[in-house]
Amino acid sequence: MTGHSSRSAGVVADAMAYAFVAAACLTLAGCSTLDLTEEVGAEAPRCEVHGTVMTPQIIKLSSGEAAYIPEDYRTIAKQHFPHHGGVLLQGERDSIPDVSGRLYYRRVRDFVCPDCDEAHKAWWAPWNAKHRPTE
Ligand SMILES: [Zn+2]
Repeated sequence: MTGHSSRSAGVVADAMAYAFVAAACLTLAGCSTLDLTEEVGAEAPRCEVHGTVMTPQIIKLSSGEAAYIPEDYRTIAKQHFPHHGGVLLQGERDSIPDVSGRLYYRRVRDFVCPDCDEAHKAWWAPWNAKHRPTE
C-alpha cells in the first residue's frame, strides 16, 4: 500500500509541474519566441549582402541540425542569404544562441531580408526536390 501511494504522489507532482509550465506559457506573452530584434534601435537595419531594408519576422527553428546538410552550408548561407526567413537550422546562425537544450524556443523573431529569402528558397529548391518525398 505504501508503494502505491508514493507512486500516486509522484504522478500528482508531475501533473503539477506540467500545469505550472503551461500556466507560465500562458502568462508570459511570446514564451516560445526568442526576440532578437529588441536590441536594435528605431531604424530598420539593412542586409549587408543585398543592401535591402529588413523587416522583423517570426522564423521557425528546425529541430534539425546543420550537420545533416552539406558541410559548407553555413558558409554559403553567410555569403548569400544571411538574413533569410522561413526555417532556420540549429547552429546555422551565430546570432542565435544554441537552443538545443532549451526546446521551448521553437521560434525566433529576427530581421529578414526579402532578397535573402529568395536566394534561400532558390538554394533549397533542388535539395528539397531530391531529398524530400513528394506529398
Ligand atoms: Zn539579403
